[in-house]
Amino acid sequence: MKILVYIESTNNKIHPVSLESLVAAQKISESNGAEVHAVIFNTNLIDALSNYKLDGLITPDNEELIYYHPLLYLEAFNQINLKYKPNLFIFGHTYETRDWVPRLSAKLDIPFISDCVDIKYSDKITVNRPIYQAKLAQKLSITSEQAIISFQAGSFSADDINRGVCNSNSESFDLSSVVDTINMGERFQESSGGVDLSSAEFIVSVGRGIGKEENIPIAENLADKINAQIGSSRPVVDAGWLDHSRQIGSSGQVVSPKLYFALGISGAIQHLVGMKGSKQIIAISKDKNAPIFEIADYAVVGDLLEIIPKLTDNL
Ligand SMILES: Cc1cc2nc3c(=O)[nH]c(=O)nc-3n(C[C@H](O)[C@H](O)[C@H](O)COP(=O)(O)OP(=O)(O)OC[C@H]3O[C@@H](n4cnc5c(N)ncnc54)[C@H](O)[C@@H]3O)c2cc1C
Repeated sequence: MKILVYIESTNNKIHPVSLESLVAAQKISESNGAEVHAVIFNTNLIDALSNYKLDGLITPDNEELIYYHPLLYLEAFNQINLKYKPNLFIFGHTYETRDWVPRLSAKLDIPFISDCVDIKYSDKITVNRPIYQAKLAQKLSITSEQAIISFQAGSFSADDINRGVCNSNSESFDLSSVVDTINMGERFQESSGGVDLSSAEFIVSVGRGIGKEENIPIAENLADKINAQIGSSRPVVDAGWLDHSRQIGSSGQVVSPKLYFALGISGAIQHLVGMKGSKQIIAISKDKNAPIFEIADYAVVGDLLEIIPKLTDNL
């Protein structure tokens, strides 16, 4: 079996969910001996992968692939598929993936199972994916010879990557047949100011419990102190206290920081699906029965308006 993981990058940084996807591939390889290959189009980042255990790293000679272009990527992957014939293509479930991987699925006529959160191998590959706002979990077994899957951020921890030897194979793709029918606009920023919450290491997230807009600086001061990004639950965005780009959850961003502070957030399922992959969760709520406490590593029952200023002062 051969697995190919796509390593996405933006602004010369590897997207963390790509490394998490590599962990998924290595996990399968440990159970069935599959070969794990990766492909990275940004050749500036080859060194960043050189210590990871990979059977091969495919890198292009073509400079035009450094910047995202769905049609060029499609053609490059078409050629990769003809040469390497991977049984499984793995992607992080990012905005780019949502844009071009369905086209890839159609072009190569390979089924695409998106938004997965787990993968297992016994006699065949099985993936789990939440459906209906994460109220149900769907288990799918892959029976086709080839398949494409994408993983939600936080499904695996990049800390678990196996290190070892990796040989890179430079490939020259013939992209001359690509008719460029796309007028590229400005790149979509996942958050204002170019901040991408999905790659933030620390997040201070504000819920309705903050009370009013004038209290938002209490959370911002804490965020400044620990160099965190500000996130929020939906009511805070609906009230216009923070921009929608800060919203975390089923209709916002999916995040997997090292530390997630949930301030005055009850833990509705639509919020939890966006942050449950956080490594450490500190939750503060007045309500000792708040569902967020079920997944929190540290649960503080109390008034955040009293606790946070004191905590910030003492940090
Ligand atoms: C289709 C759909 C999509 C949705 N998408 C999202 C989404 O993407 N993201 C999202 O977050 N929600 C989403 N929601 C809304 C979601 O269902 C919840 O309503 C929302 O997450 C609740 O936000 P909250 O926890 O901030 O508010 P609440 O549920 O009102 O919780 C506030 C918490 O703060 C506590 N509190 C109050 N005052 C204080 C204080 N002074 N100190 C400490 N604690 C205090 C309360 O005890 C409570 O636990 C969606 C809903 C639907 C139907």
